[in-house]
Amino acid sequence: MLQEPILRYSRSYYLFFHPVSTSSGQVSLYKMPGPTTSPARTTKAAIQDPETKVISVQSRPTPTPTATQVLVKVDCTGVCASDLHLARRDLPYLQATVSIAGHEGVGRIAALGPEVDGSKWHVGDRVAIRWLHKVCKECEACTTGYENLCPNRKISGKDVEGCFAEYALADSTYLCRVPESVLDAEAAPILCAGVTVYKALKIAGLQKGAWVAIAGAGGGLGHLAIQYAKSMGYRALALDANKEDICTKLGAEAYIDVLTSKDCVADVVKATGGGAHCALVCASSGRAYADAVKYLRRAGKMVCIGLPPKPSPIPVLPEDFVGTGITIMGTSTGSLQDTDEALAFLARGEIKTHVQETTLAQVEDVLKAIEEGKVSGRAVIRI
Ligand SMILES: [Zn+2]
Ligand SMILES: [Zn+2]
Repeated sequence: MLQEPILRYSRSYYLFFHPVSTSSGQVSLYKMPGPTTSPARTTKAAIQDPETKVISVQSRPTPTPTATQVLVKVDCTGVCASDLHLARRDLPYLQATVSIAGHEGVGRIAALGPEVDGSKWHVGDRVAIRWLHKVCKECEACTTGYENLCPNRKISGKDVEGCFAEYALADSTYLCRVPESVLDAEAAPILCAGVTVYKALKIAGLQKGAWVAIAGAGGGLGHLAIQYAKSMGYRALALDANKEDICTKLGAEAYIDVLTSKDCVADVVKATGGGAHCALVCASSGRAYADAVKYLRRAGKMVCIGLPPKPSPIPVLPEDFVGTGITIMGTSTGSLQDTDEALAFLARGEIKTHVQETTLAQVEDVLKAIEEGKVSGRAVIRI
């Protein structure tokens, strides 16, 4: 749990804002007015110095949307472990060429580029800034539902400036609409953490009633994985350290504390009556992967999500695959369609994000807290 003064408040379960459904569809509980004034000339942003790597809030000129881009006035943005990897530059394939991270932004269109389809997008529309800024829509990955794996993708916070800023750019040809019926802070974590675990469960292709072991279950990804698993008809087993409360409150049927358990593998096998059908490894821990190989039941599936900061090979031999029939796969974020579906769970009230609100000036403190495993749920910056 983050300590004051990083947080203005914590444990914000938004239990009381659920959309109302009617025969004609969902009705917004409230509608925020769109911006009526021109965008400010300057934008405050959490900018990383390319030399010192120190992140500080500075003002810079507000970017101008070109071609099909839109300028988004950001209201809230989540802080993801990928932002930490980008800031620390500890993963070879995630070396940022820009200085502003952030890819779980919720905001409203403040200006349109000259080639934006004006019949579809308007100033004031509520939209998302996501990990995937743009994909090519033409490659095999893009045309088979795996656009998140597009080799030509542009990533927010890596290839284009992200949304740890008052204003950020998105592309109208690949833009997610955020339902009016959900709050900014509760929608933000769905845009990366939520869609990632939702997609992980989709690709695992499990039977109803399957046991899903979630490593790192109390964190930004894991706390949503518990709820998606439950909503999709699976049984959730949570693994984490000192996070039993949040995990059981959110619906985990069993909780195993990785710090106090004498044998996590045996505990998972016992709690699941023979092993988990699926392991969602959200923890950035080599040990979490090593354990998962052992506690999967026959023909079980492991989905790799969390990235250990140091190279951590998964200890698995050909005979493990041959003898147990396990499958190991991985995923990151999801398609636009996946994101719409993941947001729909939130709009229906089946998923509740557990957020800790903070400010732009606290980005570095939040990154440190993520690094130390001290954030329960998701830290969300109110811009
Ligand atoms: Zn992310
Ligand atoms: Zn592509």
